[in-house]
Amino acid sequence: MNTEKLIAILRQIAEKIQEEKDFLTELDNVIGDGDHGINLARGFQEVEKKLDTFAQMEPADVLKQTGMTLVSTVGGASGPLYGTAFMKAGMALKGKEEIHMPDFLEAFQLAIDGVQMRGKSTKGEKTMLDAMIPAKEAIQAQWEQEASPEHVKDAFQAGIKAAEEGVEYTKTIAATKGRASYLGERSIGHQDPGATSFTMMLEVIGGAL
Ligand code: ADP
Ligand code: MG
Repeated sequence: MNTEKLIAILRQIAEKIQEEKDFLTELDNVIGDGDHGINLARGFQEVEKKLDTFAQMEPADVLKQTGMTLVSTVGGASGPLYGTAFMKAGMALKGKEEIHMPDFLEAFQLAIDGVQMRGKSTKGEKTMLDAMIPAKEAIQAQWEQEASPEHVKDAFQAGIKAAEEGVEYTKTIAATKGRASYLGERSIGHQDPGATSFTMMLEVIGGAL
């Protein structure tokens, strides 16, 4: 993956989030304050406006600019968290014109570490991490079995499946971080909006490769 492809993927993510804005907001209505879709749609709309100006940058800087835009335009917890994720992913790719699977896995891990640090959160707290962490582990595990360009797609399929299962898992647990934690046990039975939006992003990436 190079800058051109990365920009195309970010454009598709922006469009997907726009399409799913109402659904994500509905999910957040049930266990939060009903703004997750609105928040992300606003942020990615700003990212989309800037994408053409990123064409001459290296992938690391595209991700950094994307993250900074999300931090500065998205209200709520998810802005700084997704913003940090994209900025940290960028840091892992410094100086690289082409992103290969090992680079992607490193960037993905730094993104997860960034969310955990910023959110003071971990797996099993009904957050985006419940999709991110299993997805990264599944992509890595599948890649380690067959580390060749023809198997990138398989690795992403495994990651998407794990993220989707992570979303299902969030229905079974109570939130202990974020606004949904105010509901405690009453948050059980409902899927986490952030885990859902992350899974949508991964589906876009997997589909684009
Ligand atoms: P807010 O909760 O401020 O209204 P959003 O509705 O945009 O922000 O985002 C809510 C999502 O953010 C949650 O569904 C969850 O996935 C994620 N989230 C909230 N707090 C944390 C945290 N501490 N760590 C990781 N993710 C979190
Ligand atoms: Mg919210």
